[in-house]
Amino acid sequence: MGARADGDRMIIDTAGFMHWPHDRIKGGMVSTSQVAEIERHAPEVYLLLGQLDVEIAMPSKESLQQITIIAAETGDLGGLSPVDLEVLALGLEHNREIATDDHRVQNVAEANNMAWRSVSGSGIRTEWRWKLRCLGCRREWQDSGLKDGEICGDCGSRVRLVKS
Ligand SMILES: [Zn+2]
Repeated sequence: MGARADGDRMIIDTAGFMHWPHDRIKGGMVSTSQVAEIERHAPEVYLLLGQLDVEIAMPSKESLQQITIIAAETGDLGGLSPVDLEVLALGLEHNREIATDDHRVQNVAEANNMAWRSVSGSGIRTEWRWKLRCLGCRREWQDSGLKDGEICGDCGSRVRLVKS
């Protein structure tokens, strides 16, 4: 599951700037409002953003809107910061992989078939498994072909992606 990103620049959330070596950050992409977070949490890397060729971009209103709708459907919207939503919207808009340890960001990316990897892990997406659970009858599926937000054939409620 998960689409492959075709862009060169990975979108790196702020955890990446705190934990990754400079050569891994090099050439990455961040959202405009993320820059203040990086300055606060990784001040020494903040000073090197230009040198490390980190691209700073603002997602379009349309992609932000689309991500907000998906996050509301997966139930993650309340737990996502404006920066998280921007990071997701950039991933959507530029079709690029997102490096993040935030499970809600991962969940929304997964629900929308977007590529992501964890910051702290090996980069291989084996740490979390996902299953779908019906919000009505609680029936669960794994690898069923059903997608997040679709309708349960048993009771007609929506199914939702949850961590297994
Ligand atoms: Zn059901």
